[in-house]
Amino acid sequence: MSAVHATTMTGTDIQLDDAEVAAFRTRLGGTLLSPADAAYAQARKVWNGMIDKHPALIARCTGVADVVQGVAFARTHDLPVAMRCGSHNAAGHATCDGGVVLDLTPMKGIRVDAAQRRVQAQGGVLWREFDRETQVYGLGTTGGAVNDTGIAGLTLGGGIGWLMGQHGLACDNLVSADVVTADGTVLTASATEHPDLFWALRGGGGNFGVVTSFEYQLHPVSQWFAGTVVYPRSQARDILRYHRDFSEACSDSTAAFAGLMTLPDGTPIIALPIGYHGPLDEGERILAPLRRLGTPLFDDVGPKSYPEVQTIFNPEVFPHGMQRYWKSSFLKNPPDAALDIALEYADQMASPHSMILLYLVHGAATRVPADATAFGLREALWNLDVIGQWTEPADANQHIPWVRECWKALDAHSTGGVYVNHLGSDEPERVRDAFGQNYARLVQVKQQYDPANVFRFNQNIRPVS
Ligand SMILES: Cc1cc2nc3c(=O)[nH]c(=O)nc-3n(C[C@H](O)[C@H](O)[C@H](O)COP(=O)(O)OP(=O)(O)OC[C@H]3O[C@@H](n4cnc5c(N)ncnc54)[C@H](O)[C@@H]3O)c2cc1C
Repeated sequence: MSAVHATTMTGTDIQLDDAEVAAFRTRLGGTLLSPADAAYAQARKVWNGMIDKHPALIARCTGVADVVQGVAFARTHDLPVAMRCGSHNAAGHATCDGGVVLDLTPMKGIRVDAAQRRVQAQGGVLWREFDRETQVYGLGTTGGAVNDTGIAGLTLGGGIGWLMGQHGLACDNLVSADVVTADGTVLTASATEHPDLFWALRGGGGNFGVVTSFEYQLHPVSQWFAGTVVYPRSQARDILRYHRDFSEACSDSTAAFAGLMTLPDGTPIIALPIGYHGPLDEGERILAPLRRLGTPLFDDVGPKSYPEVQTIFNPEVFPHGMQRYWKSSFLKNPPDAALDIALEYADQMASPHSMILLYLVHGAATRVPADATAFGLREALWNLDVIGQWTEPADANQHIPWVRECWKALDAHSTGGVYVNHLGSDEPERVRDAFGQNYARLVQVKQQYDPANVFRFNQNIRPVS
């Protein structure tokens, strides 16, 4: 075995003792990867291809016992810990330089209690796996709109999805979470057990411990009337305005997203992924105006199962490994001038893979009191994502400035708030903005459960005021 280099919590470079690494390996039920292992090169990669980090060790955990061993090893050697579920985090926090990655992707257990409308899902489950099992019973809950996103990162940051209008955010449906804390304690957090930690886990991100299992409330989820209508970008000015007004007035059962993007053949478009959960004839009637806004290039809106709705944001549009730079903010009822800025910048997109997304967080997701969970931005707010995506690492300088300039031009219309799960890796000063009045309480919970900031590869809530 060749020596494993690591970087401690205080930034000191060290060499791990071979025998201790070997002993750690034998204590794991899963696999331990170091840079000498063939599988390490692939295992260190995350969804965002721009992230190029080299952890000291990657522990592929098969259960709670492995997570406990991983946290103990890291603490013994004074190493920070990163956690990985779907690896979709655009900031790339599911990996790190020099620390220990606890990769929970082998932990795929899902158990539905149909009578209680509850599900237990382990910390490595993806939304498509979750939907598949819960739909056996005609049940579901709010999950990510791109179905190969992980349940862990998405839920812990809040969790926006097609069902948010009816059932709130993913974190609003969390009933309990099994957590391994920084000192290796295994506990369950719920409304009655460690309620302060449970509050923080619902929106505060991966700051407080490794969640090995999530328990969610489920709801009957049946057929949708849903799909995507695509119009040429030349028609987008009036369509964006109509989409805004429609979204502001729509029922909880309706979801309407808008994307300024480019077809594979180079045609600039506005895409409206839209859906209604309820009687099909009602859905057809409600969505009809969005389908008659101009001359569509494409329209597949029709009856769909919930798992089909969960593929409307086609994962192929967001493949693993592409280069990404992403900036986001919340806007409130964006005026025409803001929509015009988005259109102006859409027309300057240098990459056919880049896009600007706009959609309203509405309904049940906005009726939760701002201090009831760590996710504190509970008004009806428009999520703006300016997403730079390109293929060649050398082209970053062509695409990153476009993202920054577009986001900056729209900043005049922003509330100052942002969804924590959409923050980039280079904006730690905006973490407070994601939590509003809840930030101070989050610091207190962090001080209690992770005073040394072992879990620091996240949108970090530092354990100091
Ligand atoms: C293509 C795409 C589509 C998206 N769509 C949506 C959407 O529809 N709705 C939405 O709300 N968000 C969406 N997001 C944002 C998404 O919520 C975040 O990227 C989220 O971090 C992804 O979770 P993950 O488990 O896949 O991420 P990972 O990168 O694996 O983890 C992200 C972070 O979560 C924490 N974490 C992961 N696992 C654990 C664990 N077991 N215990 C404790 N902490 C853990 C860690 O801090 C980690 O750094 C999308 C992102 C992408 C890239």
